[in-house]
Amino acid sequence: MAIWNLGSINADMVYAVPHLPGPGETLAATGLERFLGGKGANMSVAAARAGAHVAHIGAVGADGGWAVERLTEYGVDTRFVARLDHATGHAIIAVDDAGENQIILFPGANRQIGEAQLGEALGGASDGDILLIQNETSAQRAAAHLARERGLRVCYAAAPFDAQAVQAVLPYLDLLILNQVEAAQLQEATGSPPEKLGVRDVIVTLGAQGAAHFDSEAGTRRDYPAHRVEAVDTTGAGDTFTGYVLAALDLGLPMPQAIGQAMRAAALMVMRHGTADVIPDLKEVLEARFA
Ligand code: AMP
Repeated sequence: MAIWNLGSINADMVYAVPHLPGPGETLAATGLERFLGGKGANMSVAAARAGAHVAHIGAVGADGGWAVERLTEYGVDTRFVARLDHATGHAIIAVDDAGENQIILFPGANRQIGEAQLGEALGGASDGDILLIQNETSAQRAAAHLARERGLRVCYAAAPFDAQAVQAVLPYLDLLILNQVEAAQLQEATGSPPEKLGVRDVIVTLGAQGAAHFDSEAGTRRDYPAHRVEAVDTTGAGDTFTGYVLAALDLGLPMPQAIGQAMRAAALMVMRHGTADVIPDLKEVLEARFA
């Protein structure tokens, strides 16, 4: 079985600045670091590190070769990442001495993925594979539709939240994963709680409180408390959680075990700085000891 992840690939450019620039101000940065980012890339890396076969469907520009190489190094199948005549998606992140930040996000090539590319990629998918989508690319609805036709299970991580995008894909979903804020936004947009929208499985992540799983067929809710850890940086925890849940489901684990593993992986993530580059592998996740 395999996971097909239609997802963003970004260059996160992190500039160290003495203070955040004001309007009209030119400011010299004192440092620059470049990281692999984008929710899609993070989720692909997490699922691959969790042991699944992950094919990433995405796009970069001529300046994004290094990001694709990095994904490959982390075990992601990048044969379906297109090289387009557009800038690679990137985030320009200024971080000041106090740790405050300011971010400009440019989606670039991520939003240029078309249906032809999807058709080619998903042509190799098999019944029972999983399609994962989020909101940082184009063509999510077409992908969900095509995947359903081909007998794939469709999972959607509704981030960053977009009311129109989520409603367009809702009819195709088998699994919906949201954080608390997104769950509230979805309820406001639709007038119904996420678990009442006709999606078989809904997982709402609750930060330090853990996560709740709603099985709409059985009409049940099950809560999973988070591990108690010292959180230093929660970036990437949600993406890691999603990648780990999907990998475990793809490898045939039942939902409680899948969420259990994802909870352990996410707990390790909040204890460290960084995103894609520091996502733990399955061995580390299984061997971790929590209080
Ligand atoms: P969130 O996107 O904030 O809902 O977090 C996603 C997942 O990361 C949660 O379901 C937890 O498993 C984990 N997580 C987030 N914050 C913490 C924390 N402070 N302590 C332990 N686990 C956390």
